[in-house]
Amino acid sequence: MKHVFGPVPSRRLGLSLGIDLLTPKICTMDCIYCELGPTTDRRIERGRFVDLGELLDELRARLAEGPDVDYVTFSGSGEPTLSLDLGAAIDGVRAVTDAKIAVLTNGSLMTDPDVRKALMKTDVVIPSVDAVSREAFQRINRPAPGLDPEAIVEGIATFTAEFDGEVWLETVIVKGMNDDPQEVARLTAAADLISPAKIHVNTVVRPPAVAGTEAVDDDRLQKIARALGPHAEVIASPNVRSHVFAADSVEVIVDMAARRPVTISDIASVLGVSPGEAAKIVGSLLDGKRLEVVRHGDLLYYVSIARKGEGS
Ligand code: SF4
Repeated sequence: MKHVFGPVPSRRLGLSLGIDLLTPKICTMDCIYCELGPTTDRRIERGRFVDLGELLDELRARLAEGPDVDYVTFSGSGEPTLSLDLGAAIDGVRAVTDAKIAVLTNGSLMTDPDVRKALMKTDVVIPSVDAVSREAFQRINRPAPGLDPEAIVEGIATFTAEFDGEVWLETVIVKGMNDDPQEVARLTAAADLISPAKIHVNTVVRPPAVAGTEAVDDDRLQKIARALGPHAEVIASPNVRSHVFAADSVEVIVDMAARRPVTISDIASVLGVSPGEAAKIVGSLLDGKRLEVVRHGDLLYYVSIARKGEGS
């Protein structure tokens, strides 16, 4: 499948079926921690990048295979709000499933009323704000020209005030980049203005786009979460219910690893098998040169040789 991936275990959304309205890698930013690698098409102009009819056919086929998913999530190979098809695609998903709909976004285009209108059709919007000062914004997010961090915060706040669903704000803390007290104070002020239902504090969990981009330790992350207020929490490992997936396990693993680096534990959760069984299948895929292994911190991640990814 070209446009539908997973289901993948999401740290926030349980079992989530992903939808990709882009091709790799189109984004308004080029974040140093991005797990998809460098942005190859950095832009702020919206466009049409996939065949929507083909995408909805794929979605129907994947939903028919099962299992039931908790969310259908727009993410994929970059920033989903760059797609002019976003609103129509959300309507298309609603027509074929009762699963909740989420959008992962870097929030940069939520200054645009048309983008906010499309996002109103969802259940959960997860925008990220990693920096409020221009210096930290440039250092971490390396945005396309024309993006202003304070205007982005205002756009997200305007949306949140009007939205019937939930906004879960995410912030990724990078060692030495946005973990100083001044930037944390600016992030706290931004979070107060946006007033989201939840704030997820994250760090560099998976292999980053720029070598040397480092995670902050758990103590510091917990302190930053406390500074961000009572709705903030450090997000934890995948939390998915066990199930048996009907499709071919090997192809599911390759599909997952083509989108984002995955661990043995991620694979075991999705397939509903033991870590030992997941490791055996991964071993055969390494031997067959369909996956390769990357170390990040203390963990080993598996990526497909022809990698795509989950964005924002
Ligand atoms: S992390 Fe998200 S916003 Fe940043 S470059 Fe990757 S896809 Fe774009």
